[in-house]
Amino acid sequence: MTPTATAARRTLFTPPLPEPRFPYNPGSMLSVLDLSVQGVSRLLARAAELERMDPLVRDRILLKRRLALLFYESSTRTRTSFELAAKALGADTTLVSNLSSSIEKGESLKDTGLTLRALGAEAIILRHNSSGAAWLLEASTRLPVINAGDGMHEHPTQALLDLRTLLAHLRPGVEGVDEKTLSGVTVAIVGDILHSRVARSNMLLLPRLGARVLLCGPVQLLPDLAAHAAAGVAIERNFDAALGQSQAVMMLRIQAERLSGLQLDLDEYKASYQLTGQRLAAHAPAALVMHPGPIIRGMEITAGVADGVQSAILEQVTNGVAIRMAVIERALKHENGGRP
Ligand code: ASP
Repeated sequence: MTPTATAARRTLFTPPLPEPRFPYNPGSMLSVLDLSVQGVSRLLARAAELERMDPLVRDRILLKRRLALLFYESSTRTRTSFELAAKALGADTTLVSNLSSSIEKGESLKDTGLTLRALGAEAIILRHNSSGAAWLLEASTRLPVINAGDGMHEHPTQALLDLRTLLAHLRPGVEGVDEKTLSGVTVAIVGDILHSRVARSNMLLLPRLGARVLLCGPVQLLPDLAAHAAAGVAIERNFDAALGQSQAVMMLRIQAERLSGLQLDLDEYKASYQLTGQRLAAHAPAALVMHPGPIIRGMEITAGVADGVQSAILEQVTNGVAIRMAVIERALKHENGGRP
């Protein structure tokens, strides 16, 4: 075959990779920092629109577009809501998990990504145990990559659905945001901050909208340096004092899978940092209680609080579908011709 014919064949079967230029794909969402405040606002408004839309109209938006969900860690909420969101827009989805694929045989992230691309995937939703994995996948495939949690680093769509939940309660009726929307609001994030990608994405997002974030936890799970993570973020180690200043409290699970030998006295931890009904009534009787899940009842939160009237935990789950519809649409449509 002549070199030209070889090139033509290659073009026919594998779309050429665009120029290596970072960011490689304007549809990707690797970090909450990929979005400007206006970009966040547009996504929130679009999520609301998509949620209200007639399902039979909505499912034509991404009809037969192909999305791969690539999950190297277990997931209930994130995986299901991404899948339902994609299907609500008419897209076809396929799930590849580390437990039932060639990943078990040692295939690399890069090769798995290129394989999915060769099979026709137009975007990949990735959950991975290594921080930075989503960047690597985007660089290798140049496809839009949506970070569904990378190690201890970020979980941008969780922060966006948390924001939607906060707004519904603290700024009812507000669908868009600007730099002042959450002025005067303090959000406490409590527990295993060190290992939490949810904490990281929230502390990178909420202060940009005017909120103050108070991090609260023992030094083993919240090193002093964390206070310098972003402007508008501070540490308050006393849980009761943090609650007393907060309009919302996000409780976090201790990430047992990431502790790497760290020893914690759990009775001591519960005495200082468990959210109990008594503590909530005494220090934050009107605060919104949030948790990204999975909740470990009786550890970071009591069953009474998780099921109580202040809890927005299941609303967070529901909001995940609307937010992820907007994020998936953005990934496949590139309407802005670049990252907003
Ligand atoms: N579901 C969240 C995450 O994937 C929080 C957690 O696992 O504790 O990061």
